[in-house]
Amino acid sequence: MSLDAMVASILDRIGPEVGQGRVADYIPALARIEPSKVGIAVATLDGNLYTAGDAHEAFSIQSVSKVFTLALALGRAGSDLWQRVGREPSGSAFNSIVQLEREHGIPRNPFINPGAIVVSDILLAGGRPKETIAEILSFLRWLADDDTVAIDAEVAASEAETGYRNVSLANFMKAFGTIDGPVADTLDVYFHQCALSLSCVQLARAGLFLANRGVDPVTGRRVVADYRARRINALMMTCGHYDASGDFAFRVGLPGKSGVGGGILAIAPGRAAVAVWSPGLNDSGNSHAGTIALEELARETGWSVF
Ligand code: GLU
Repeated sequence: MSLDAMVASILDRIGPEVGQGRVADYIPALARIEPSKVGIAVATLDGNLYTAGDAHEAFSIQSVSKVFTLALALGRAGSDLWQRVGREPSGSAFNSIVQLEREHGIPRNPFINPGAIVVSDILLAGGRPKETIAEILSFLRWLADDDTVAIDAEVAASEAETGYRNVSLANFMKAFGTIDGPVADTLDVYFHQCALSLSCVQLARAGLFLANRGVDPVTGRRVVADYRARRINALMMTCGHYDASGDFAFRVGLPGKSGVGGGILAIAPGRAAVAVWSPGLNDSGNSHAGTIALEELARETGWSVF
């Protein structure tokens, strides 16, 4: 079956699953999203794109942004970044504070909230939040090869208003010396990166360098070193799905990162980057229908890395 027919048929089949689960409502601006949305985009290394459903509609990528800020921060800080963030699956909630206390303010990995807040702080590097936010946005536009990629100001404001847990995590890390910048500035960057709004098409395109050893296969531009792309994929596989990363590896077998907006970016090394979006989340906070779509795709293409 052609990939085109495959994505269309997968979307058809998962129809009854769409709308199941719960739309994240702890960020008020996300609670308004229509649960019946569903999209899939597969960007292959040869530059082709296969889409179905709402693949062109922008949504809040939330924690999927953590993959891109990590790539950017590694370019900035190099391996020194690992002095301030760990590389182990957390085994606890993405916004848990308990582990931070046990581990002296060093977050377990860059894909849980405290880890991503440290990465934002590294990008801020004593500068002004506005400039760092603009830098992150330009990076995403460059990767997606699309200048219409935007940050949803309403979502960013909504996060800032209700992000009490993130404020406490950042303050807690500041007390340990893990955060350099003023906490409010670091969080300003973090809330805006989470509010990045991309369609499945833009997201798959932006992630394509991770499927091609760090080089954008369409433009030939190197985004990160080969070994860094491999390491980011390893972290996506082990830490990309909150406390259900093992389950995602078991079911899908691809490096992936999900966000509470219902998006997932999955990487099939040497083949493609895949983005799915369906806002209903399962009990672990991952897109219910999106995960099933990826499970089907991995099964039918044989793209699992295992
Ligand atoms: N902005 C969200 C938060 O910090 C991101 C959560 C997520 O997608 O994991 O709570």
